[in-house]
Amino acid sequence: MTGRHHVIVGAGTAGFNAISTLAELEGQPLNVTLVSAELPYARMVLPYYLSSEIQRDNVFTISEDRLSSLGVELMLGRRAVGLDRSARGLLLDDGRSVSYDDLLIATGSSATRPPLRGIDGTHIFDHWTLANTDAIRPELQPGRHVVLIGGGFIAFTLVNPLLSTGVRLTVVEREAHILPRMLNAEGACIIEAWMRARGVEVITGAAVTHVEDGDTRKLVRLADGEVAPADLIIVATGIKPNIDWVKDSGLQVGQGLVVDEHLRTNDPAIYAAGDVAEVTDAHTGRRSVTAIETAAMEQGRVIAANMAGQNRVYAGAMPMNVIEAVDLQAASFGDWTGAEASEGEAANGHYRRYVWDGDRLSGAVIIGPARHLAGENDMGMLKGLVQERVPLGPWKQLLLARPFEVKKVFLATRHVARLLPRTVLDTPSQPLETVLTGAPT
Ligand SMILES: Cc1cc2nc3c(=O)[nH]c(=O)nc-3n(C[C@H](O)[C@H](O)[C@H](O)COP(=O)(O)OP(=O)(O)OC[C@H]3O[C@@H](n4cnc5c(N)ncnc54)[C@H](O)[C@@H]3O)c2cc1C
Repeated sequence: MTGRHHVIVGAGTAGFNAISTLAELEGQPLNVTLVSAELPYARMVLPYYLSSEIQRDNVFTISEDRLSSLGVELMLGRRAVGLDRSARGLLLDDGRSVSYDDLLIATGSSATRPPLRGIDGTHIFDHWTLANTDAIRPELQPGRHVVLIGGGFIAFTLVNPLLSTGVRLTVVEREAHILPRMLNAEGACIIEAWMRARGVEVITGAAVTHVEDGDTRKLVRLADGEVAPADLIIVATGIKPNIDWVKDSGLQVGQGLVVDEHLRTNDPAIYAAGDVAEVTDAHTGRRSVTAIETAAMEQGRVIAANMAGQNRVYAGAMPMNVIEAVDLQAASFGDWTGAEASEGEAANGHYRRYVWDGDRLSGAVIIGPARHLAGENDMGMLKGLVQERVPLGPWKQLLLARPFEVKKVFLATRHVARLLPRTVLDTPSQPLETVLTGAPT
């Protein structure tokens, strides 16, 4: 116990993981205040609520009662609007100030829309928050036509859930191929063909110029003169970190809030995690915002350990994305754009791209039927090889000649034994229930 008063802004993945880690390390009652515009929930499960695979209640990560029983002082439905760093005060939208010994900024990001005529009209939605999902669900009736503007990662988290409701789907992507920040052209083309063959309209290289109200439907107008009619439109064209509220505070801002290896900003009492934090990419050494769930979770845990008086360094996140579209799965890891690459393609949507750094894999793309990838666990094995930069020695030749024999190569490197004991904070994270009851794992 440090006796320090920790203030956490944002109850998403990073904020929640910081609190559960503080509960592990500092015991209860916690000396934590949580300020958050929304209740604690995980955005990445929203697509499952959209498709009714899970109920609304299952979206939440922890209840208010449980947080209170941990000793967390709750300020939910409140927004942070500024910082008074000299007085160590967090300024709220109701005029109050909350004083802190240390502060975690975990305010995530928000969906953005391109500045197009008609883009803010009726029946046009983002899909970033629980409120967005609540608003879209009643609109999804079988046979209605949904146009997804944007064919990137977030749009693809929605493809299967939308199709499961019986709607007709059109995906419009401005770039030459879908998933331009996740897949190379060859890989993306396999998915596009797969989706088209299964009834999904995929339009690429097509910039939306504006949206109009037709007689009965919305009309999405494209630069080449084509029109995509829609009963409803979901815009998934990008996100921006929620850091406007700290812009006058003197904290260093790049793509997000700039943090050091301990995830501290240029003010040692203030940390940043998740979609707001610009960290060093362990893989490339470049600085970037890694707006993915695992990064937010790990960063929240590392910061909590530092708040609890430990001296933890964040190892960095490997860029990684996984999507599934009509039973075809695709993933890319690490530096998948690298030029020194080998490829393999086989029937039924199977594809591999390996990016080489000598005899090590520095990046990879893997595509295949979801059933197959899950059963064979090729995806997990490839991720391990890329993440750990395992030298493959003579086994590189096997992957060059037979790109689908990942398992043989993985086992030959004896990589599992080295990976298994590895954890973010040296001990496995405890389920919150175990922390609360003191029951052994
Ligand atoms: C539909 C969808 C699917 C996704 N799927 C995946 C996936 O499959 N894999 C993956 O890795 N990632 C996925 N993501 C991304 C992932 O959810 C985010 O990277 C992750 O939520 C980031 O966590 P965070 O804690 O930084 O921010 P968030 O989880 O966004 O939490 C931010 C919190 O801050 C609060 N807040 C914001 N501004 C303020 C303010 N001024 N004052 C007080 N509170 C504020 C918000 O209300 C919220 O509670 C998905 C995202 C979405 C929307």
